[in-house]
Amino acid sequence: MQLRFRPHTLILRHAFGIASNTRTSTPAMLIEIEHDGVVGYGESAMPPYLGETQETAASFFSRATPLLADVRDPFQLEEILPALDALASGNSAAKAAIDIALHDWIGKKLGAPWFRLWGLNPAKAPVTSFTIGIDTPEVVREKTREASEYKILKVKLGRDAATDRALITTIREVTATPLTVDANQGWTDRTEALRMIEWLAERNVLYIEQPMPKTALDDTAWLRERSPLPLIADESLQRVGDVPRLRGVFDGINIKLMKSTGLREAHKTIILARSLGMKLMLGCMTETSCAISAAAQLSPLVDWADLDGALLIKDDPFDGARIVDGKITLPDRPGIGAVKR
Ligand code: MG
Repeated sequence: MQLRFRPHTLILRHAFGIASNTRTSTPAMLIEIEHDGVVGYGESAMPPYLGETQETAASFFSRATPLLADVRDPFQLEEILPALDALASGNSAAKAAIDIALHDWIGKKLGAPWFRLWGLNPAKAPVTSFTIGIDTPEVVREKTREASEYKILKVKLGRDAATDRALITTIREVTATPLTVDANQGWTDRTEALRMIEWLAERNVLYIEQPMPKTALDDTAWLRERSPLPLIADESLQRVGDVPRLRGVFDGINIKLMKSTGLREAHKTIILARSLGMKLMLGCMTETSCAISAAAQLSPLVDWADLDGALLIKDDPFDGARIVDGKITLPDRPGIGAVKR
């Protein structure tokens, strides 16, 4: 099996502000695996604050090349993926790219999309939220008006109480659409966080993502006991092994392919978290329609989706899962459902 990879920079439509930083592009890697005349596509999307770079991903792919060259049967995911995982710690986005490409290859070889191989009903794909980053009131108003197609808007909070309240108030001047809030670990005082969540609960907010620092699990559990809104773990969840200790701390988890090392572990994480009675959200980084379409294959299994990553970039090199009237629409194409434009 041959692996090809190249760096690709995702240029964002708008500067994207979250609690810790603002950026205008996202480094990515686009990969292809080829075997037996079939090509599978994969992608790593690597927002800089997460620690992976195009260089670390290229180095991981170089290490993976001889291992993949020895693969005779790409269907043996339970052999191949653990071996890749063991090549190096971390590198979850690089690992995700290979996992996605292998899934794409298998689906294409079988002539079936993954939602079908998993037995999922594409009509049950959820609506996706659309993210409004931290910005000036004028830009927030403009972005909110542009987002009128979406049934749920996701708002990035977590800078300070005055800025957070001003941002919500600005959006509420423009729309009554239900909101979700992502604090990106930005609230450090649990009493103030509770006060903010109570204020948000009166403004048609559905849930709060990562209100407190990722390791502040005791404070988060305290907050959850009192919070009128569900709390969802994002930064506190990386791999499937993190799920059990988040039970009772958060109401649910946000699964992303770039954290879970791809589709196979994301699927396992969904099954585990469901069995523990947790809510499920499927999220993304800014990504092309390659990784977004892969994630969308799992979306009929989750309560909430936040798969707007490809809508936030210019010049998406792929066509795949689309958002139609705010809802994820899965193409009836084999594999992950993405084709080059
Ligand atoms: Mg988040």
